[in-house]
This record gives sequence, structure tokens and C-alpha cells, in this order.
Amino acid sequence: MLQIGLRCTAVLTCGIFFGFPMCADTITPEHRSRIMSKIKGKNTKPEMIVRSLCHRMGLRFRLHSRDLPGTPDLVFPKHRQCIFVHGCFWHQHPNCKRASMPSSRIEFWQPKLMKNVVRDFEAQQALVALGWSVTVIWECQTKNRDTLRDDIQKTFNTKKPSP
Ligand SMILES: [Zn+2]
Repeated sequence: MLQIGLRCTAVLTCGIFFGFPMCADTITPEHRSRIMSKIKGKNTKPEMIVRSLCHRMGLRFRLHSRDLPGTPDLVFPKHRQCIFVHGCFWHQHPNCKRASMPSSRIEFWQPKLMKNVVRDFEAQQALVALGWSVTVIWECQTKNRDTLRDDIQKTFNTKKPSP
């Protein structure tokens, strides 16, 4: 009984953060909305991980530049590089288990999430048109910091800083 209870708690906790479909009915829609708006918000844990890595790598950046399309989470003016740190569920990471659609109220979630995907795509297109390079770091990529550091390194090694 205890074991089952623990497992339910774990599933619920994961579900809150990653949108696993199995817990779709365990929290009220209002509660879920509140959680999601938090996840969608700025200064999330994955974002803080990326910021701290970039900082330690000696990269200088600005945060949440509202003057740029899509308000990129990190902007590196010297490299003309933007980084978005996206939650896998909220921004629908392709082929990621964390992006599973909730099994209930799908009519509510699907258009909402698709709107995000379209908005992300449009923002990235607009940034590229303005001469920026865009990298998306997904929440699940922030779980392994060594790999993440290599990925960030590659992003900056492959481009020359502007004069
Ligand atoms: Zn993911």
C-alpha cells in the first residue's frame, strides 16, 4: 500500500512538471493552469541551468530581450546568437516523452500548445531574418550538464564573433 502511495506521488510530481498524460485527472484544470503558467514563465530551473553554464563558460548575455521577436531567454549580442530554453511539454518537444498530450481536455490543450509551437516557429524565423542565429535548448537536455556544456560550446565554436 505504501509502495503504491509512493508511486502515485512520484507520478503526480512528474506529471506536474512534465505533463505525463497518466495524471491528467488527478489535479483540477485550474490547478494545472496555474502550474503551467509557472512552467511557461521566466527564470525556470532549466533556464537557470543554462544561464549558469553560459556564465561559467565566460559567455556574456542579456536576458529576455523584449526588443527581439519571441523575447529570447538569452541573447549574446557579440555572437549574434539567441538561445531559447523551452519546456518540453509547453513547447511540444518533437519525439519527447515529456511532450505527451494530456488525455483529458484535449480540446483545450491541443490548440493552446499548437499556438505555442507556431509562435515559436514564427519568432525563430523573424530572428533569422534579422541576422540572428537561434538555438533551442530543451528542458530534457538540461538534465545532463556535461552534454549540455558540449552542445553550448559547439553552438559558439561554429560561429565567428561579429567585429
Ligand atoms: Zn524533451
